[in-house]
Amino acid sequence: MHLEFFGATQEVTGSCYLLSVGDKRILVECGLIQGSHVHERHNRDDFPFAPRDIDAVVLTHAHLDHSGRLPLLIKRGFKGPVYTHRATSDLCAIMLEDAGYLNEKDAQWENRKRERKGLKPVEPLYSRNEAREAHKYFEPLEYGETREIVTGVEVTLRDAGHILGSAIAVLELHEGGVKRKVVFSGDLGHKGAPILRDPELVRHADLVVMESTYGNRRHRGWQETWQEMGEVLSNARSEKGNVLIPAFTVGRTQELLYEFKRHYDEWGIGDWEVFLDSPMGIKATNVYAQHARIYDTRATELLQASGDVFGLPNLHMSERSEDSMKINRVQSGAIIIAGSGMCTGGRIKHHLKHNIWRQNAHLMIVGFQARGTLGRALVDGAKRIRLWGESILVRATVHTIGGLSAHADQQGLMDWYQGFENRPRVALVHGEPEAMEVLAYRLQSECGADVLQAEFRQKVIL
Ligand SMILES: [Zn+2]
Ligand SMILES: [Zn+2]
Repeated sequence: MHLEFFGATQEVTGSCYLLSVGDKRILVECGLIQGSHVHERHNRDDFPFAPRDIDAVVLTHAHLDHSGRLPLLIKRGFKGPVYTHRATSDLCAIMLEDAGYLNEKDAQWENRKRERKGLKPVEPLYSRNEAREAHKYFEPLEYGETREIVTGVEVTLRDAGHILGSAIAVLELHEGGVKRKVVFSGDLGHKGAPILRDPELVRHADLVVMESTYGNRRHRGWQETWQEMGEVLSNARSEKGNVLIPAFTVGRTQELLYEFKRHYDEWGIGDWEVFLDSPMGIKATNVYAQHARIYDTRATELLQASGDVFGLPNLHMSERSEDSMKINRVQSGAIIIAGSGMCTGGRIKHHLKHNIWRQNAHLMIVGFQARGTLGRALVDGAKRIRLWGESILVRATVHTIGGLSAHADQQGLMDWYQGFENRPRVALVHGEPEAMEVLAYRLQSECGADVLQAEFRQKVIL
């Protein structure tokens, strides 16, 4: 039995791991490589294995850096089942289709340029239809349910508390009388996060494949975070300007709506009109609403007390672009939640154009902003931004709310590892080298763990 690392090695995207047990091949994750244009071109590369040789796929959660190459895997010959949590399957239905749509748009854009140069057109990485087709291979599971996925391999999903449906995948492998237990952390959630339960602990493993995104970081406390958000909103209320919130459509958007509902009176939310201006955000919120069975205690209590956890009396869902354009006329009193989370695309760009030059407007940053993005430029204090060729003055106040993260911080990762009673061997993945290095040191020195910082194409015998 062995495990090979084919992605998210020394980096945070493109998760992909291949388990071989006897003559069976199980792929864990099939993620998209995300980042610069040059980097993303590698999504078109051949897989380092033959897709048709894979017997089954196990998927921890719906984020595209874990799921986004699945339609391509199927397009290139994989025909087996994809095991994942039921909520992940529902989220993937909308997220992969959206990715397919963006692929089609990218290809059209590229092809217009290629045509002018007399070059042959390129195909989209996969289309909307191919994404829909891929979804037919999904086999939904529940947390705690054990399923034999191929002969000699059983999977059990445990709640990872990262986004709705996210899972830790526990794989039990049997070959010639030998038994091994490999645990994939997936992305581990941030303890105490809204709506979701905390990451479940696993007691035993022979090998743990563990994420290390924030292996060198500490998040600030939830209490401080909510207090800060309340203060920003009350200041903005006295100035009566609009508040723009760029937010990831899956996860962060639902957390915001949920916290607005929980702090409705305290934060004076009733004095605003709240707009969720994102078709994807609306769809994802519906999926979150359909899976109330996996909420944490606090969300379950809110649900029982008020019938739903995302509904606000003053919430407007803007699905059509006409509805979105109407918001442009609102000069004060609007809280606008829109994608994309780093202002690189989506409807938030229109709202920036209509508001960022206003003195009384507020931009509230609630998520990570990667280097090189418009969101990052605003956080770093840009005085002007360029949108559709137009130079726009930045007069709005920019607030960065720390602490809102869907990932465990260093202590969270340490606590999760310490849940294992037998101190298993660890392979670190899904982290930048600096983060991995620091976490590896703590795991070794404090837990005596045998730690590997996985390299691309590295093979580990089980
Ligand atoms: Zn994730
Ligand atoms: Zn991830």
